[in-house]
Amino acid sequence: MDLSREIATNKYFEPSIELASKEEIKNVQKKRLKYILSYVYERSPFYKRLFKENNISPYDFNELDDIRKFPFTTKEDLIKYAYPYGGDFLCVNREDLVGWHMTSGTTGRPIAGPYTSNDYWTWMKLMARCLVTAGVRKGDILLNLYGYGLFTGGLGFHQSSHLVGAAVIPWGVGRTEALIQTILDFSPTVMTGTPSYQLYVLETLIKKGIDTKKLPIRITIPGAEMWTEEIRRRLEEGFGLKEKNGGSRNVYGATELLGPGSGIECEYENGFHFWIDHFYLEIIDPETLEPVQPGESGEMVVTTLTKEALPLIRYRMRDVTVLDDDPCNCGRKAFPRCKWILGRIDDVIHYRGAKIWPKVIQETLLKFPNVLEYQVEVDRFGTSGFTIKVELESKGSNEEIKRAITSEVRKSLSFINPKIIFVPEGTLPRYEGKSKRIIFLS
Ligand SMILES: [Zn+2]
Repeated sequence: MDLSREIATNKYFEPSIELASKEEIKNVQKKRLKYILSYVYERSPFYKRLFKENNISPYDFNELDDIRKFPFTTKEDLIKYAYPYGGDFLCVNREDLVGWHMTSGTTGRPIAGPYTSNDYWTWMKLMARCLVTAGVRKGDILLNLYGYGLFTGGLGFHQSSHLVGAAVIPWGVGRTEALIQTILDFSPTVMTGTPSYQLYVLETLIKKGIDTKKLPIRITIPGAEMWTEEIRRRLEEGFGLKEKNGGSRNVYGATELLGPGSGIECEYENGFHFWIDHFYLEIIDPETLEPVQPGESGEMVVTTLTKEALPLIRYRMRDVTVLDDDPCNCGRKAFPRCKWILGRIDDVIHYRGAKIWPKVIQETLLKFPNVLEYQVEVDRFGTSGFTIKVELESKGSNEEIKRAITSEVRKSLSFINPKIIFVPEGTLPRYEGKSKRIIFLS
């Protein structure tokens, strides 16, 4: 990393923090944890009650590990006690709030995230830190394909690109035909959006005969859904990102953690750096609730250190990852990297006694360049069973490829004996926002 250039050109790279030692960051965490535990105890009726029920007080916190004495907070708690304005969780007056974002609530009541003015600034600065870490600079043209509105993706990227000095095209999702013309006319250098939509845009450009490698797009920032190294490879090769010293960089976030911006990959693309000066991170075994051994996968548990309206103590994210605590080649020593998100615990497919991570299906299928799209139909209680529809490129797809795919899928999912159906190019749906590749028939 060329530090002199970074410091000279961008104030959202903060060497005193980002290049600090582990000890220095631990001291920051300790101070902030001590403060936030007292803060929620004094201000949030929910936490006052929860701490009392568990016979614990902020005075019981002295060392970092003491955080493990405190109870967890769950999504169910937020749904029950925080909706709509922050409810029992809220640590400020309603009049101190300046806005909300909200989850889609597809599985029930949504989770609403309230913001104070300071919360917005914290979020935007963290997002700006993310953009700079991913390689976005003043002068870039950022095509934002994350949805605008209640979803945090659109506005999160939009507002923070102003801080960095990148020019934003606030496209949102949809109108893909018109989008193609805009890409040709405005020559964006950065593209943000769900990996599914980025792939769809790439596919549409190629279909129109455009040489996508020659487009100025050099960085893409996919997020907001599960994706894999196979999708990264497709995006990087399709847009020729590596040849332009860029790449596809994974971003992480959640409405409960202000939005996107709690972590992002640097130029080394070896897991997203988690900003632990703002979000204290633990990785636990979701069954025993004990910390996992280094290098083992587990559920992310986050304590927000700087949120004002609705701080969270030991919040169970339901996302499973593996942490890499070694110093990164980019110079960040204290900010661990979360290897890929294996998936959401809630997204695991339970099928006749077996547990299947959707990521395994994606990794297996997209290894084959001829596979354009796929869809999984799960009939848990009926007679249709577990069906995987695989859409193949018409050019060059022959019986041999079909046999190879079938054998690979059978190998990785042997325990459920899936049915594999090959469908012609253009048959399966594409996604402008988040993908819906897993369908439950019953
Ligand atoms: Zn790094």
